[in-house]
Amino acid sequence: MKYRSVIFDLDETLAESKQPMSEKMAGVFALLLSRVPVAVISGGKFSIMLAHVANRLPEGTATDNLYILPTCGAALYEYKNESWHAVYEETLSDIDMEVIERGIERAVTKTELIDLRTPSHGERIERRGSQVTLSALGQTAPLSEKVLWDPERTKRTLLHATLSEELPQFSVKTGGTTSFDITKPGIDKAYGVTKFSEHVGIPVSEMLYVGDALFPGGNDAVVIETGISTYAVTRPDETYSLIEELLTT
Ligand SMILES: [Mg+2]
Repeated sequence: MKYRSVIFDLDETLAESKQPMSEKMAGVFALLLSRVPVAVISGGKFSIMLAHVANRLPEGTATDNLYILPTCGAALYEYKNESWHAVYEETLSDIDMEVIERGIERAVTKTELIDLRTPSHGERIERRGSQVTLSALGQTAPLSEKVLWDPERTKRTLLHATLSEELPQFSVKTGGTTSFDITKPGIDKAYGVTKFSEHVGIPVSEMLYVGDALFPGGNDAVVIETGISTYAVTRPDETYSLIEELLTT
C-alpha cells in the first residue's frame, strides 16, 4: 500500500450523517485494519464513535490498529489489552464550559438565528468533556429537517463569525449541517492528525486523509495544512470504493 496509515472523517465519509457504519463498510474497514493503523476523527463524542465504528466491526478484527479521535481531535483513544485507553484528552473545565454556554446564548440572541426557548429535538447545547456542541435544532433532529435549516450555508457562516467574536479565547468550528463545536484554542482536526502521527510514529507525509468536507470552509479542510495527502469523497460509497482500491495495492 502506498500509505502507511489512513485517517477517516466519520459523518458522510464512513457512514451517513449520525448513523453507524454499514455492514458492508465495516467489512472493508476491518480488512484495512489488518494492513495498517487506521484513525477515525469526528466532532462526535467517544461513546457515539464507539457505537458507530468500533462496535460495528466483525469479530476477529485487528482493533489494536484502530484509533479514535472524538470531539475534533481534542482526545485520542487506543485499544490495548482488550480495552480502550485515552492517550490524551484536552478536557474543558466546568468554568470554561459555563463561559462557553453564556457565549453561545449571546451569539444566538444577537444573530436571532436560534430561539433557545422553543422546543428542540433533544438538547441544543451539549457538554462533551473536551468540547461544547451547539445543535441548532437539537442533538437528535432528523436529517430531513437539518438539511432544510441552512441550505445556503448563510446561517452557519454568520453564527460561526458571531460565536468566534463572543468567544475569542476558544476555537469555534462548524460541525455538520446545523452544529457548532467549541473547544480549547488550537484544537481541530489538524491538531488531531499531528498528535496521532506522533503517537504511532508514522510521518504525516506517509498518511492519507479521507473526508467529505475538504473544500474551503469545510470541517476537514484544516488537515491540509499538516501536509497530509487528502482524498475527497461526497458519500460513503465513494469511501467504500477507495478502501477496496487501497486494499488491492
Ligand atoms: Mg464529514
